[in-house]
Amino acid sequence: MNIANILVRSAKSHKNAPALAYGTEITATYAEFADKSARLAAALLTEYDLKSGDRVALIMKNHPEYWVSLFAIWHAGLVAVPVNAKLHINEFTYILENSGARLAIATPELADQLRKGQDITPVLNIASAEYQSLKAAPHMEMAEKDGDDLAWLFYTSGTTGKPKGAMLSHRNLLAAILSYFADVSPHNPGDAIIHAAPQTHGSGLYGLPLIAKGGIQVTPLSGGFDPAETLDLIAHYPNCCFFFAPTMVHRLIGSDAFQNADTSNIKLIVYGGGPMYEADIRRALDAIGPKFCQIYGQGEAPMTITVLTQHELEAGTDHPNRAARLASVGVERTDVEVCIRRKDGDPCDIGEVGEITVRGDVVMLGYWQNPEATAKTLKDGWLWTGDMGALDEDGFLTLKDRSKDLIISGGTNIYPREIEEILLTHPKIDEVSVVGRPHPDWGEEVVAFIVTKESLTTEDIDAYCLEHMARFKRPKEYIFKEALPKNNYGKVLKTELRALL
Ligand code: AMP
Repeated sequence: MNIANILVRSAKSHKNAPALAYGTEITATYAEFADKSARLAAALLTEYDLKSGDRVALIMKNHPEYWVSLFAIWHAGLVAVPVNAKLHINEFTYILENSGARLAIATPELADQLRKGQDITPVLNIASAEYQSLKAAPHMEMAEKDGDDLAWLFYTSGTTGKPKGAMLSHRNLLAAILSYFADVSPHNPGDAIIHAAPQTHGSGLYGLPLIAKGGIQVTPLSGGFDPAETLDLIAHYPNCCFFFAPTMVHRLIGSDAFQNADTSNIKLIVYGGGPMYEADIRRALDAIGPKFCQIYGQGEAPMTITVLTQHELEAGTDHPNRAARLASVGVERTDVEVCIRRKDGDPCDIGEVGEITVRGDVVMLGYWQNPEATAKTLKDGWLWTGDMGALDEDGFLTLKDRSKDLIISGGTNIYPREIEEILLTHPKIDEVSVVGRPHPDWGEEVVAFIVTKESLTTEDIDAYCLEHMARFKRPKEYIFKEALPKNNYGKVLKTELRALL
């Protein structure tokens, strides 16, 4: 089934229910949201000459129009390519080229950047008169789609430095939504999800179950996470929920505004995407109550590998394994199988650390136009996640290490290799190794160890980074070394570098 069905149905059964909001202002009911999407869908096909299966990029800061555009794309039978708005123009260009996007829909500042930075993909600015007029085009019927048809290209930052497009089908998205209802939470019209995290990533995926049940998608006016603003929105929306990176939970509770805030409107905070420390979740449960649920997933199996349920976080208080369970990522989801494997593919014993593999209807179709990466990741129907972990005898999974040395800062994945490759293009840099250093607010921050050929200052390197990479990826400190520690095979020992920090 076409995933756009979830909106078409809600527009029938919850016509006048609020669907989209900007801050505290409702900008569309379900009838209006569905109508605008169906009109824009028709206009995309006729005005841009798009055909079923063509890719359309969404390069947008959080905005209510994201939802209208996303559902227009699906309604028309097109494929959405939501892109992290914080990326560098070079990365936008790469994703546009790699996905073969025939159109990019963008928020105003990003639209300007895209027009200046490339001239292959046409850009549609959501603040333009043209966009408004497209939303008034004659309405079209929803395109027929098979479950295995492509719906979303989810670009992950690849360890090779180039992002890869995880191909998510209509079935994958439907499975993720059903699994949410099975393991995370039910919803009713009037429930709200407040998008303090990027809609193009986790928070946006978590918006889908609420669309299926007539809930409200709330975009903060700031477009992001500001604790005081978030708390004001909580006070405004009864039964509100969130998808938060663990560091956002930490920052919310630690903020000045939190101290006198009334958080009783919170229905649920789903957290995941990076490690939640045990002390932090205990503090959060004390401060807000048993309104949390943890998920472990990745773009290749969206929202859905394991869950530490609200029930477990609440009712598990007396369990002798409480501490271990709080530090775990919970149990396998209703609709997937999880198997921890050794390098040769054999299943691990209980308690033995191996690579986490998963099988089920949420697992992606493969990587877009990258059969090599697909073959390495999907084997005999199982997704090899690249994450290491161990299962206990009760089925609780603990993540032991992130393989690939991924850095997660403020809930966003940063791949050291990508930064290393850019730094190594500097003519005066000889060797470099990038690692994550624990940070109280961001989870981790980026630090670069550098061996130079000729003398170089921190300012020089910083200016170089600003020119060549997204701001948030740029190292927060550069440490100059005579040489990098290496093993017998000449591989840099990142564990030693981390120990130095
Ligand atoms: P992404 O594909 O951007 O959603 O990133 C997925 C990666 O984030 C996973 O492969 C894990 O390494 C990490 N991750 C996701 N959920 C959790 C969690 N609950 N705890 C720790 N790490 C997580």
